[in-house]
Amino acid sequence: MFIGIDDTDSLDGMCTTYLAALLVEKLGTTNYPKLIRLNPNIPWKTRGNGAVSLEVDGISDKIKEIVLGYVREYARIDDENTNPGVVFLEKINQKNRKLLFGFYKKTVSRLVEIKEADKIAELVNAETHKFNNGRGIVGALAAVGAELSDKTYELIAYRKQENYGKKRDIDKNSVIEMNRITYPETFDNIDPETGGILIAPRGYDPIVYGIRGENPEILKKAWGMIKPLEDVERVQIFETNQGTDAHLRNKKISGLKTYDCVILKGYVNRNPFVIEGGHILFGLSDGTGEIDCAGYRQTGNFRDIIKGLVVGDKVIVYGGLGKYPNTLNLEKIKILRLEKLFKIEPPLCCSKRMTSAGREKGFKCRKCGKRLSDKFGIAKEIPRGMKLGFYDVPPRARRHLSMPLVRMGRNGVCSA
Ligand SMILES: [Zn+2]
Repeated sequence: MFIGIDDTDSLDGMCTTYLAALLVEKLGTTNYPKLIRLNPNIPWKTRGNGAVSLEVDGISDKIKEIVLGYVREYARIDDENTNPGVVFLEKINQKNRKLLFGFYKKTVSRLVEIKEADKIAELVNAETHKFNNGRGIVGALAAVGAELSDKTYELIAYRKQENYGKKRDIDKNSVIEMNRITYPETFDNIDPETGGILIAPRGYDPIVYGIRGENPEILKKAWGMIKPLEDVERVQIFETNQGTDAHLRNKKISGLKTYDCVILKGYVNRNPFVIEGGHILFGLSDGTGEIDCAGYRQTGNFRDIIKGLVVGDKVIVYGGLGKYPNTLNLEKIKILRLEKLFKIEPPLCCSKRMTSAGREKGFKCRKCGKRLSDKFGIAKEIPRGMKLGFYDVPPRARRHLSMPLVRMGRNGVCSA
């Protein structure tokens, strides 16, 4: 039987993955449970917008009772912003597999309404259980439908309940050493810009560590190298769509909708400008329309790349649309062509550089008094100081779904 669960956590605690880890222990599964990240631009998501699914042996009301009992016990149903959804599917034939996969692909990259999930649930004969407004069935159904051609794994360690709310402490050197040995088979352990440890998320009870990597074996090895400074209640490995760019779709600007996750190819048509808060934006055109692309303050040095762009540069941008339809939140950029920039220098006369006689007034030789018009100016190329290629936001600002550059080209995977 297939089980999908979503939206059991609230901003102050719980985590749908923990519920899945408890169910794995209780029910037993043959495969790794799936942790499926969904469209990160949806504003009513809880923290990471992750849903889970698992496949267990047998079909019984007893299993359903256990799952629903755990959801009632652990989900933050009292929080009106927590809208759990649970789905059960006894089996999935090929036709329904296709429908569910299509639904997953939609849910990961754009806005999906509850009624669309209801319709798919009916078509594939899924039993649905909604709590509060029940929005969680969207993610629950998508998590069951997710078939991952490219995938990564995450090992999540959970704290003991007595440590909830307490400060996290970690042996930083053990993480640095783990990273040195297992990177890039594991990734996003440390932020290279700040040196910050990223495997211990701040204020994320009940999670104490999460290590991401290419396969379960490397995660087990990495976990063995970490020296936790507190007792860990349990560890669970998930198969996941994190770091795969599963959310991005090639689109044209004219066809964009709010909350879309997209790849756009175009030209810079407005020079970068800084807005309040230190965010840097530039205008992009692809011939069908125009959009502002933003490197937010949180993206650190990534903004230096954005700041260096000029009108005419040819780029591919990767990111998501927020509530204000005309801003793309950048996750990555590929610079395809840099416009040549020139400055005009005065020509030589009497073996000296002439001086500018003023704006549009030509040049004048100080020695012999000769005058020349502006057209005699010598164009000199200004070095751009930038290289073509990919640039992405630092790991600390990365969306769960965004593929780190270090993963590109793996297994024939490339989102370019
Ligand atoms: Zn002269």
